[in-house]
Amino acid sequence: MASVDTAWESLKGRLTELEALGGVVQLLEWDQQTMMPKGGGSQRGAQLSTLTGIMHDRLADPQVGSWLAALCDETDPIKAASVRNVQRDHERATRVPTRLVAEIASASNSGFSAWLAAREANDFSLFQSSVERLVELRKEEIACHGPADHPYDHLLDQYDPGSTTAQLQPMFARLKEELAAFIASVSGKEGPATVTGRWDIAGQEALSKSVIDALGFRLDDGRLDPAEHPFTVGMGTGDVRLTTHLYEDDLLGGLTGTIHEAGHGMYEQGLPSVHTGTGVATAAGMGLHESQSRFWENVVGRSLPFFQWLAPMIRDQWPDTNISAEQWFGHANRVERSLIRVQADEATYNLHIVIRFELELKLLTGEIQVADLPDAWNDAYANLLGIRPSTPNEGVLQDVHWSNGLFGYFPSYTIGNLYAASFRYQMEEDVPDLWNRIAQGDFTPALQWLREKVHVHGHIQDAPEIFLAAVGDRDPVADLMAHLRSRQGALYGE
Ligand SMILES: [Zn+2]
Repeated sequence: MASVDTAWESLKGRLTELEALGGVVQLLEWDQQTMMPKGGGSQRGAQLSTLTGIMHDRLADPQVGSWLAALCDETDPIKAASVRNVQRDHERATRVPTRLVAEIASASNSGFSAWLAAREANDFSLFQSSVERLVELRKEEIACHGPADHPYDHLLDQYDPGSTTAQLQPMFARLKEELAAFIASVSGKEGPATVTGRWDIAGQEALSKSVIDALGFRLDDGRLDPAEHPFTVGMGTGDVRLTTHLYEDDLLGGLTGTIHEAGHGMYEQGLPSVHTGTGVATAAGMGLHESQSRFWENVVGRSLPFFQWLAPMIRDQWPDTNISAEQWFGHANRVERSLIRVQADEATYNLHIVIRFELELKLLTGEIQVADLPDAWNDAYANLLGIRPSTPNEGVLQDVHWSNGLFGYFPSYTIGNLYAASFRYQMEEDVPDLWNRIAQGDFTPALQWLREKVHVHGHIQDAPEIFLAAVGDRDPVADLMAHLRSRQGALYGE
């Protein structure tokens, strides 16, 4: 067996290589969605699958296993964290046979095409067998990992290491009950008015850049480009790329999306680059990543102090509009029972996630079959949101996730919202003049708090531990409800 020092140097060498390859994959994906001509599709597919194949082999390499074995008693916190993270990835890469990995990749590919066709025809039956196949393959994959408290834990672990079904289930159940009651109490009441108008795209691009620059996204270490579906990639702290989609008739729709991505981007820019090559200079999980985007988009970006700073900037850009901070604030915090998750407001949004989480659990345990999904979906919407989808496109066919075999991903969105709400209240305690500073356009104290409590920790601990160290024993469900009452509740006279 290799000596401990040699094992560490060898492991670092391999991780440095894997991080570089991962960066290239990200860059190719960014290019695919921003710059690549349509004709590049099949070449790009071959490039990506070649690279991910190489990465898989380099990670599954038995040598990695022997280095990890030599380092199993490591006590240095960075090295120990590195070993824990790589161990997880190495096990995932070795336990699942290459045949199954390839079958999942190909089923996801054809699942996506079937989903597009089903959406085109507004007909779930065209998608059903693809989902059945993907659920079966995922179950097979879960079986490779051996026993767990709940089979869903293996799925959660891929996106949110450290989160468990046993911990999420009661939290989501409580949230569901409290949210449903809150939404019932505000809906039906006359809420704030919608703001309408037209804002030219060039003006919006200029405004978006000024806003993210003020928030603290370093434009020298990043970019902002248009894309059909906004996303962010980070190739190290010095090259973080945001994308956004702007709409001429919906200024806030585009801007909140940009701020969301900038939240992801500032997390990537704040990761501990001193630990590059150890596997810990990375995000601790998708839920924590989402807490950063939601914090800036919702906690900051839908607050009255934020609009007190922003409204004059909008007037400067479009001198013939005159919309007050209060009008923007009202518009940004309207509550509506709606069928489509990505268009949902901040209050109803989490019910859309709870519905998906519960359906995924039932699918996985066999409590419902894929054929039952459309009805189960519609019943859940009728029960929880009081509205029933009238077509599959408004219901079970609306999200791309399942077509790609992404089960276990949806909870990240709500974990993000829960974390973000607790970050808000802890930050208010730690930074008493937080909101005054934000009203002046000074976002430094907020960003510094997140840097210190979240970003610099990379993936040294798992997200639940980072959260606990940041906010202590705060109750995230209570915090999210308090946050919503302080905004929508107040605007709707609750
Ligand atoms: Zn996001």
